[in-house]
Amino acid sequence: MFGQEQGCVFCRIVRGEAEASLVHEDDLVTAFLDINPGTPGHVLVVPRRHVAGLGELEDAEAARLMLVGRSVLGALRGGAVRCEGVNLFLADGEAAGQEVGHAHLHVFPRFAGDGFALHGDWTRFPPRAELDALAARLRAALG
Ligand code: AMP
Ligand code: ZN
Repeated sequence: MFGQEQGCVFCRIVRGEAEASLVHEDDLVTAFLDINPGTPGHVLVVPRRHVAGLGELEDAEAARLMLVGRSVLGALRGGAVRCEGVNLFLADGEAAGQEVGHAHLHVFPRFAGDGFALHGDWTRFPPRAELDALAARLRAALG
C-alpha cells in the first residue's frame, strides 16, 4: 500500500542499507542525488523518520527540510553544477504525482534550455469575487 514504511527505499537509504550518493546528513534529514535526475545535480531532501506526507512532519522536521533544501540550493548556485536558477518541488499524495511514499523535497538546478517543464492548465484568470470567496474558505480552514 502507498506510504507504507515496510520496504521503503528512502528508509533503507537513511539507514545506510541501500546505495545512495549522499550530499548531507544530520539528525533530522538526509539529502542525496536522485537516481533519475530531471537535471544534473537533482537532489532529494528527506526526513530521516518515515512519514508519507508533509503534514505528518513535526515542525522541526519540516523546518529542517526547507533549511537543508535552501543550503543545497546555495551549493548548486555556488558552482557545484551548471545552475542558473533552482526549482523546489514537493509532490504530496499520489494525485500530485508522488511515487515514493516517504516525504521528500526535490531541488532541481535549472539552466536556460534544460528541457525541464511542469505542465498545468494556467489559461484561466478567475474573477476577483471568486478568488476572494476561495481565500475566505482557506482562511477559515487555517483558523
Ligand atoms: P516523486 O515522484 O516526487 O515521489 O519522486 C520520487 C523520486 O525518487 C524520483 O525522482 C525518483 O527518480 C527518485 N528515486 C526513486 N528511488 C530512488 C533511489 N533508490 N535513489 C535515489 N532516488 C530515487
Ligand atoms: Zn520511508
